[in-house]
Amino acid sequence: QDSSWLLSWTINRQGQFKEQDKKQVCVWVYSLFTDVPGDYIKKPMKECTGKEITEEWLYHLGVPVEEIPELAEHSAVCVPTMMPYITAFFMPRAKGDRPDVIPDGCVNFAFLGQFAETPRDTIFTTEYSVRTAMEAVYGLLGVDRGVPEVWGSVYDIRELLDSSVKLMDGVSPLEIELPGPLNKLKKPLLKAISGTVIEKLLRDHNILKEGMM
Ligand SMILES: Cc1cc2nc3c(=O)[nH]c(=O)nc-3n(C[C@H](O)[C@H](O)[C@H](O)COP(=O)(O)OP(=O)(O)OC[C@H]3O[C@@H](n4cnc5c(N)ncnc54)[C@H](O)[C@@H]3O)c2cc1C
Repeated sequence: QDSSWLLSWTINRQGQFKEQDKKQVCVWVYSLFTDVPGDYIKKPMKECTGKEITEEWLYHLGVPVEEIPELAEHSAVCVPTMMPYITAFFMPRAKGDRPDVIPDGCVNFAFLGQFAETPRDTIFTTEYSVRTAMEAVYGLLGVDRGVPEVWGSVYDIRELLDSSVKLMDGVSPLEIELPGPLNKLKKPLLKAISGTVIEKLLRDHNILKEGMM
């Protein structure tokens, strides 16, 4: 959050590559705002070399500034990758914009991957691609195997409660001011669920917080 580029970084389980030297670490540095100057490198990320991106990252890690250029030059290799169309995934869409995996009547071709339509699943995941491939192969070739069900989070009240708090950065829906008389309903409703399993459920999922009852 302190980074103008909204830079984040992840070190997944090592090694990421079979040939990776055990003494090396593969880091994934990612930014969303590529058009604005950085905090150490005063250029937009999209104009930066790998060394400059590494310098900006080291700066945010708190590396002493006098050591940054040397470390970025000799202790890291950064390969920049730009994905200008990645947000295409999140454009509004309507049914029919994406083809079905096996369009009606097709017997010898199917659509795979992130831009094919499969009900309820979430894109930007390898799982989605794998599911479309399973649907295509099992469907066209008549393979008698079930495609694993999409995780039923939308039908799980616990997931929905968690999501409602996470969507608002930790704020419970109960902390929101409701219009007029609706606000007055909160107290009696909370009283009604006091001591029940619903109270426990709301507490377990941070809808109900200390001092709210
Ligand atoms: C930054 C980022 C982070 C992600 N994080 C996650 C994550 O944490 N968890 C998760 O589950 N998913 C994640 N994903 C999504 C996941 O990586 C992809 O959805 C998945 O890899 C897509 O797999 P795919 O096989 O359908 O397509 P791809 O992996 O894109 O494979 C398509 C292949 O086709 C090749 N190709 C294209 N055109 C042609 C052509 N004309 N002829 C021959 N070959 C061609 C391409 O070179 C490519 O190798 C992430 C994706 C990105 C970009």
